[in-house]
Amino acid sequence: SDEVSTYSKEASSKMFQDAEVVIPGGVTANIKHFAPFPIFMKEGRGSKLIDVDNMEYIDYSLCYGALITGHGHPQIMQAAMKQMNDTGTIIFGTPHELEIKMAKKLIELYPSMEQIRYTNSGTEAILLAIRLAVAYTKKSKIAKFEGHYHGGINQVLVSVNPSPDSAGHAKQPTPVTESSGIPSDETDNTIVLPFNDLEATETILREHKDELAAVILEPVQGGFIPAKKEFIHGLKKLTDELGIVLIFDEVKTGFRVALGGAQSVYGVEPDITALGKVLGGGFPVGAVGGKKELMMQSAANAKGDVFAVGGDSDKTRDVVFHSGTYNGHPIVLAAGLETIRLLEEGNLLNVLFSHTKHLRSRLEKLYASYHIEMKTIGMGSIFNIIFTTEPIKNYRDMWQANTAFREAIDQELLHLGVYLKPLNRYSMSIAHTLEDIDRTVDAHEVALNNVLKN
Ligand code: PMP
Repeated sequence: SDEVSTYSKEASSKMFQDAEVVIPGGVTANIKHFAPFPIFMKEGRGSKLIDVDNMEYIDYSLCYGALITGHGHPQIMQAAMKQMNDTGTIIFGTPHELEIKMAKKLIELYPSMEQIRYTNSGTEAILLAIRLAVAYTKKSKIAKFEGHYHGGINQVLVSVNPSPDSAGHAKQPTPVTESSGIPSDETDNTIVLPFNDLEATETILREHKDELAAVILEPVQGGFIPAKKEFIHGLKKLTDELGIVLIFDEVKTGFRVALGGAQSVYGVEPDITALGKVLGGGFPVGAVGGKKELMMQSAANAKGDVFAVGGDSDKTRDVVFHSGTYNGHPIVLAAGLETIRLLEEGNLLNVLFSHTKHLRSRLEKLYASYHIEMKTIGMGSIFNIIFTTEPIKNYRDMWQANTAFREAIDQELLHLGVYLKPLNRYSMSIAHTLEDIDRTVDAHEVALNNVLKN
């Protein structure tokens, strides 16, 4: 077998040059790029990634959190292959039994969801969630929180990552569109709220209550900045009172902060939940669920005619449009069901959470021993490393963290066998061992010494 090299990134560098010719920026999602060039991987096994230069890394990216069982978990591979062997290549294009099985499982774990529809990504789940809310309330505006990401939909590609000079007042953030190519009238209906500031949020929501269809949020921003308890309970009360649909985007937090998502941790039931990532066991997926009355908007018109599709265009227009060639893909659902079964079976989430806690406290102790102001924040199996002592309760609080230092550490770690896209947050899997944690802490100490030397 190939020898594991320690420092060379030559093959990645070459591949990136190749990629840049045929793929804009050399990457298939803008976020995958980082300086000087992204690392090209060729294999994943358990907690490890192996790059095209044959260097092995402990992976804390895990495909942006999707791989809670690590890479190529044997039982998940088996479930996916069995599904393929049993039923043919891919998909029937018809309803099938696994769709019901998964829906029942999700409803059991997320009692706020009484009915489920599937999509192929988190982004598509959010698209449907918003459309359902607008149809249900017959109002047209959406409120989102500054710094919260909900996929690449025009309407919510607003104030995800605004700079201090464009973001406006903390209590009334200025909406900032995050992409070119979005006509301004597509974001005109988007209102931006300050996370974890209930008073300011209430003022804005009351002002716009007659136009607001929904408030959408990540209950734990980016998977690492938790909503304050009073804030999220207050928000629930407020949206109920004002007739605004509350959407929890649990694409990242679902299964990762608890099997039942952040909503089970807080004890708050949103009207609509969007799921993705972990749910697909490593395959592309999304799901939307909510109260039956609300979800039925996607299948029945005002007169209660179910499946009013085709032919009668008046009926069709009464119904929320939802489609997708690959929705409810059997292999995806088989892998997802096996993932959930694994997590439930051995109480593996508890082990995962205690491993995550262990890594966090080891890292905090390490940096403290060097008198460097650093802390970790997060929930369940996700956390972030922040070089500051100030409290972090929203997006703007991150502005005063020492990101240059963090980035320097992250760049060093890439040469020491710890993989994370620089400045991203850490996700852990059930495949990460205590030995991985030891190696990670050791790598941090070497990285830290290297950075301090320079
Ligand atoms: N919402 C949240 C909170 C996410 O973290 C993501 C993905 N990072 C999405 C939505 C979009 O999901 P996808 O990438 O599957 O479209």
